Amino acid sequence: MSGDVDIAIVGAGAAGLAAARRARDFGLSFVVLEAKNRIGGRAHTDTETFGTAWDRGAHWLHSAAVNPLTRMADVLGQPYLKRESFRNRNLHLGTHWADIEECDDCNAEMDAAFDAVDALGGSGLDVPVSQALDGSSRWYRLIEHVHEAISAFPPERISALDLHCYYDSGENWPLIRGYGALIEACGASVPVSLETPVDEIAWAGKGVQLATPRGTIKARAAIVTVSTNVLASGRIRFLPGLPVEMQRALEAVPTGFADKVAFQFSRDVFGLPDTSYASFMDERDPARHALSFQIRPFGKELAIAYLGGRFAGEMERAGEAAMVDMARAALADMFGSAILDHLVKVAATQWGNDPHTMGAYACALPGHADQRTVLAQPLDGKIFLAGEAVHASWFSTVQGAWLSGIDATERVARSLLPV
Ligand SMILES: Cc1cc2nc3c(=O)[nH]c(=O)nc-3n(C[C@H](O)[C@H](O)[C@H](O)COP(=O)(O)OP(=O)(O)OC[C@H]3O[C@@H](n4cnc5c(N)ncnc54)[C@H](O)[C@@H]3O)c2cc1C
Repeated sequence: MSGDVDIAIVGAGAAGLAAARRARDFGLSFVVLEAKNRIGGRAHTDTETFGTAWDRGAHWLHSAAVNPLTRMADVLGQPYLKRESFRNRNLHLGTHWADIEECDDCNAEMDAAFDAVDALGGSGLDVPVSQALDGSSRWYRLIEHVHEAISAFPPERISALDLHCYYDSGENWPLIRGYGALIEACGASVPVSLETPVDEIAWAGKGVQLATPRGTIKARAAIVTVSTNVLASGRIRFLPGLPVEMQRALEAVPTGFADKVAFQFSRDVFGLPDTSYASFMDERDPARHALSFQIRPFGKELAIAYLGGRFAGEMERAGEAAMVDMARAALADMFGSAILDHLVKVAATQWGNDPHTMGAYACALPGHADQRTVLAQPLDGKIFLAGEAVHASWFSTVQGAWLSGIDATERVARSLLPV
C-alpha cells in the first residue's frame, strides 16, 4: 500500500471516522489506517460472545439531548432508551438491600459530593477531586466508585478544575443495539485500511510519511486519533520525536482504566424490571470495592458489572478469571448464590491490556487541567491530534471524540484549501 493523499488519518474509532467523513465533505482525499481488524475503537458492540449485543466499551449517549450522535442514531434508525436522570434505588449493602431512607441518604450525599467537587473546580483551583470529598462518609466507597467510573482514575488523581470543565446535561440514554453498532453504522461508508498499524510518522520537510507493514503513505497532513497512552508509549515512532511540551501533555492527561464483567444467565434470576441498575457496597468488609451493575439490559438475560480507576487497573493485572470471581461473588451476595446455577457464560474486558488503546479514557491529573489545549495544538501545521482526550468539555466520551475529529479536519482544511 502506498500513495499520496491530502490527509492520513490514524485510527478508525469515533474521532477517525468523523474526521474522514468531514474530509469527504471538503473534497479532500484521505486514507484511514486502523491497527485492529474492525472499526469503532473503544466503541465496540460484541455480538459473538453471548449471541446477543453488549457493549464492551461505550454504551450511553451522554448529554443525550444535545449529543450529535443522538441525531445520527435517529437518522440511522439506531434505537435508544430515553430515561430520566438516574436515581439509585437498588443498593445492596452486603447483608441487605438498602431501604428507601438509606437510598435517599446515599443519593443526597452523592449529589452533595458532586456539588462540592464542582465548586472546588469552579473556584479555579487545579487540585485533586479528593480534597472536596469526605473519606469518612458512610457512602464514600460508592462516591469513589462513581468518580472512578466517570474519570477512570481515583479521586486523588483527578483534577477538580478539569472535571469542572466537563459538560453534562444529566441525560444518559443507552443504545439498544449498542454504541459500537452506531459508530460502525456511522463509519460504514468510510473506506478504512484495517490491520494497518502505523509504526512511524516522519514529519520533517514537506508533508508527512506514515510507515505501516503494508507500505508507506505520503500525505499533506496527518490526523492522529490514538489514545494518549498509546502515543506516550512510543508505539508510533515520530521522526523527529514529539516536542517535549507534547510529551509532557500526554503524560499529564493519561488514559485511565475502566472495564466491564458480563454474565449471561439461562433465565431471569433477578426479578427486577428490564434495564435495571444496581450497586453493591459491602458494609461487612471495607476492603471490598464498590461496584455497579446493569441488570437485564433491554430484557436480555445479562448482568454487566462496571469498574473503573485504580481498582479496574488492579483487577486487569490480576487477570480475567479474578475479575469474574470478584464480580460473581458480588452478584451472589446481592441475589443469592442459587442464581449461579443458571449462569451460562462470562466475559471480561481488559482495555488497559489492549495494545491499541492501553486504557479506557483520559483524565487530566491535578495541576494539569490546561494540558488538553496543548494536545490540541497542531505540530508544524501538519500533525493534528484528535480523540476523546483532546476535547475541552466532552473528554472521555464518544461525542467528544467525534467532534474532535471533525474539528481536526476543519483545521487541516483551513490550512490546505485555498481561501
Ligand atoms: C469500558 C468503557 C466504557 C465507556 N463508556 C462510554 C459511554 O457509555 N459513553 C461514551 O460516550 N463513552 C464511553 N466510553 C469512552 C469512549 O468509548 C471513548 O471516549 C471513545 O470511543 C474514544 O474514541 P477515539 O476515537 O478517541 O479513540 P479510539 O476509539 O480508541 O480510536 C482510536 C483507534 O486507533 C487505533 N490505533 C491505535 N494504534 C494505532 C496505530 N498504531 N495505527 C493505526 N491505528 C491505531 C485503535 O485501534 C482505535 O481503533 C467508554 C470507554 C470504555 C473503555
